[in-house]
Amino acid sequence: MSTLFLRTLRDDPADAEVPSHKLLVRAGYVRRAAPGVYSWLPLGVRVLKAVENVVREEMDNIGAQEILLPALLPRDPYETTGRWTEYGDALFRLKDRKGADMLLGPTHEELFAQLVRGEYSSYKDLPVILYQIQTKYRDEERPRAGILRGREFVMKDSYSFDLDDDGLKAAYIAHRDAYQRIFARLAVKYVIVAATSGAMGGSASEEFLAESEVGEDTYVRCIESGYAANVEAVITPAPEAIPFDDAPAAVAHDTGDTPTIDTLVAWANEALEGTFTGADTLKNVLVKTREPGGDWELLGVGVPGDREVDFKRLEASLEPAEVELLTDADFAANPFLVKGYIGPKGLQANGVRYLVDPRVVDGTRWITGADEPGKHVVNLVAGRDFVADGTIEAAEVRDGDPSPDGKGPLVSAKGIEIGHIFQLGQKYTDAFEVDVLGESGKPVRLTMGSYGVGVSRLVAVIAEQCHDDKGLRWPREVAPFGVHLVIANKDEAAIAGANELAEDLDAVGVSVLLDDRKASPGVKFKDAELLGMPTVVVVGRGYANGTIEIRDRFTGETTEVAVDGAVDAVVAAVRG
Ligand code: ATP
Ligand code: MG
Repeated sequence: MSTLFLRTLRDDPADAEVPSHKLLVRAGYVRRAAPGVYSWLPLGVRVLKAVENVVREEMDNIGAQEILLPALLPRDPYETTGRWTEYGDALFRLKDRKGADMLLGPTHEELFAQLVRGEYSSYKDLPVILYQIQTKYRDEERPRAGILRGREFVMKDSYSFDLDDDGLKAAYIAHRDAYQRIFARLAVKYVIVAATSGAMGGSASEEFLAESEVGEDTYVRCIESGYAANVEAVITPAPEAIPFDDAPAAVAHDTGDTPTIDTLVAWANEALEGTFTGADTLKNVLVKTREPGGDWELLGVGVPGDREVDFKRLEASLEPAEVELLTDADFAANPFLVKGYIGPKGLQANGVRYLVDPRVVDGTRWITGADEPGKHVVNLVAGRDFVADGTIEAAEVRDGDPSPDGKGPLVSAKGIEIGHIFQLGQKYTDAFEVDVLGESGKPVRLTMGSYGVGVSRLVAVIAEQCHDDKGLRWPREVAPFGVHLVIANKDEAAIAGANELAEDLDAVGVSVLLDDRKASPGVKFKDAELLGMPTVVVVGRGYANGTIEIRDRFTGETTEVAVDGAVDAVVAAVRG
């Protein structure tokens, strides 16, 4: 450590909010170069490489082949798939000296598809899984938490190419298994969640989310069944339809100034002498949507009034169409939209597409807008008085909602996405016409999967899950060094003994960080805790009596062992 390129900091960096960011900077693992752009210092590089190696070994184990593509890419292939435009501001675009457009790769589906098309021509060549561990660039809107969400980051991305769906499924399962092994070795606590409801073309996709309070992804799970899903992927179980033959007729009422659900419920409880709640009202939210290449169109979304529309769920349900809230100008341009009093009838009479929450089944009775200021209709029966154009998953998901598998309630939690596996199908092989000659002599269009692991993000995730108030606590598999050996004794013999112990450990394959600095034991112990090697060995006062200390950074336990046989004792501690 007397020569190590390392300066630890006493104070948290001003821009750091989450523990991993604070600790990785304070402990000298990384340094900020620009927002979302970080330099890796010696200890940090060792962790990063260790994570990389675990990922590499497990990818190699499923027969994936490592290649390395450039990060600096031509515009053309991304134009072919439309992503040059679709990526929007998240894409780093640049021009070369001749004025040609280029980009820094955010992910490489295009390049892999092109590459396979160029190299392979026969069904005999397939299947194949290719991967790289490479630097990606995304101009994230909110780079955050140091290396957790960077604008430059390291990803393992792999791509499978198969002749048919069964092949794709096999590659997908192989990746799923490999990811479980990777995250187990890295000692990361995580859940696998369904990423999309599968409504859009049914392509299977799952995300691996590390459990973390500071995560930006909210997911829900059912403790009873183990079901877990992104909030966007939760499917609302639809109740049984209700017979409505003897349902009372719908009647419009003057409800006075009742533009909100609360005011409407208060009116209903008084005027109708009932015990109504927001769930008895139908709230109609107006948005506009635009299919790729199309024009903006109005869309009405009907949800039970006790729930908000979750914009992310709405967006996910409508993908690839864009969604925006209506502006005042939009309302002005469509005078039949009476803010606060919008009802299904007015929407449908004016040709507005109207989608409802799955709970709005036939026979359900609603209090909803009557399309005139101060008027609502009571007993509007779904399936009798209006028929929606379909259902949509747009209502917020709440703790306590029933799990789609019917096995219990859902509870929500936060996570950080560390991996994503995705059965892409033929989106990219269509774009680049990636065909091979099939067994029958006819061309076969390949089917593709893409699979990512956030390698640099994992360093932050592990730090996030493995630390205490004193500092980092690396799991063995990724610790920069196996042992942090502190010389806490100025005696010549003790210093010589410590150096010898370090060399002996090194000789048996235990990596040692030797604190040979001229600093006080107190400073050294603090740094040892901050840097977070799993085992700390102290050559201190006891050395004169023939003992050294072994401290376990995880349990905090200290054991005294004899200097004679210290190597064996440390090796035993390190190797369990
Ligand atoms: P997120 O929702 O967190 O932005 P994403 O859906 O954009 O992730 P993918 O495109 O699937 O992520 O990328 C694969 C993996 O790369 C992610 O699972 C994540 O671990 C990692 N990753 C994505 N964006 C970043 C980033 N800005 N910084 C660090 N790692 C990232
Ligand atoms: Mg992203």
